[in-house]
Amino acid sequence: MEPSPNPEHRVEKTPPEGEVYDVMEGAGRWEIKIHDHGLVALLDVMPRFAPVGKSADFAIVQAARVSYGHGTKQVNEDVGLVRYLARHRHTTPFEMVEFKFHHVMPIFVARQWIRHRTANVNEYSARYSVVKDRFYRPSLESLRQQSKTNRQGGDQQVDSMTADEFYRYLDVVESHYSDYQAMLDKGVARELARIGLPLNVYTEWYWKIDLHNLFHFLSLRMDPHAQREIRDYANAMFSLVQPIVPIAAQAFLDYNLDSMRLSRLEVEALRSGQPLSSENKREQAEWEEKRRLLGLL
Ligand SMILES: Cc1cc2nc3c(=O)[nH]c(=O)nc-3n(C[C@H](O)[C@H](O)[C@H](O)COP(=O)(O)OP(=O)(O)OC[C@H]3O[C@@H](n4cnc5c(N)ncnc54)[C@H](O)[C@@H]3O)c2cc1C
Repeated sequence: MEPSPNPEHRVEKTPPEGEVYDVMEGAGRWEIKIHDHGLVALLDVMPRFAPVGKSADFAIVQAARVSYGHGTKQVNEDVGLVRYLARHRHTTPFEMVEFKFHHVMPIFVARQWIRHRTANVNEYSARYSVVKDRFYRPSLESLRQQSKTNRQGGDQQVDSMTADEFYRYLDVVESHYSDYQAMLDKGVARELARIGLPLNVYTEWYWKIDLHNLFHFLSLRMDPHAQREIRDYANAMFSLVQPIVPIAAQAFLDYNLDSMRLSRLEVEALRSGQPLSSENKREQAEWEEKRRLLGLL
């Protein structure tokens, strides 16, 4: 069998060979360490090669021009087109760019992460392999108290006595790793021996996603409402993809992450200068927060 495709099937590249560059600059991976044992590594990108002078954003523009054809006269400049697509939620051209990552994170982070169903995932198998002796320990600065205003979050740092107790609590659960090993030594199946391990033990996976769905993930997980630990991963992922698709990344910040959605009631309140016409306390608190962000308070 011929190793290369039939020459008759080849169509010359546009632009021709030599006028493209590797968007990952020849690197095997781009990697950022997270917390004590975690990491986010970018392994591959599609398109891997971009025309010299352009970023991988070119693939978004290329796809959009197929659908818009010559009707893009008023938005036919690349930056303008990508930003127009992002503003108008014309999302499919963003799906033409894909990223493959390797992530190492604690199981409690992976549990939140796996809820994002649009990625392709292949996780380390603790049925097949032995779980490694790696546990997440929040640093003292990130050891926070339960928030009084947000039931899902925490803000202020705990006092030093509570911190000591917290670390002792982790010492106890992590000490079960030797029991796990003892069970393996006694011949208990790996798939059962693992069930006594705590949620702060690390897992890892390969995770592939397109840019549209990555932005959806990042908009939820870079947001201050997301748990700080998963936010650290999301921020690292954004900083890895930003230099590869700088135009789309800026549009994401401008029209998604750092933007604000107003409800009909909020628009009415803004227009009339009257209070929000809702008795709902949470809705009122959210409007208060938006007004604060807008500098209206
Ligand atoms: C701050 C925060 C707190 C949360 N708290 C909780 C909680 O307390 N309990 C809990 O269970 N979850 C919680 N979640 C998870 C949340 O409810 C979502 O499951 C998660 O954010 C994934 O969102 P998604 O479904 O939009 O993403 P994805 O799964 O990535 O899907 C992306 C989009 O694709 C579409 N889609 C994908 N699959 C389907 C489908 N089968 N049917 C229809 N449309 C589909 C939807 O439009 C969806 O928005 C929380 C998430 C956040 C960010």
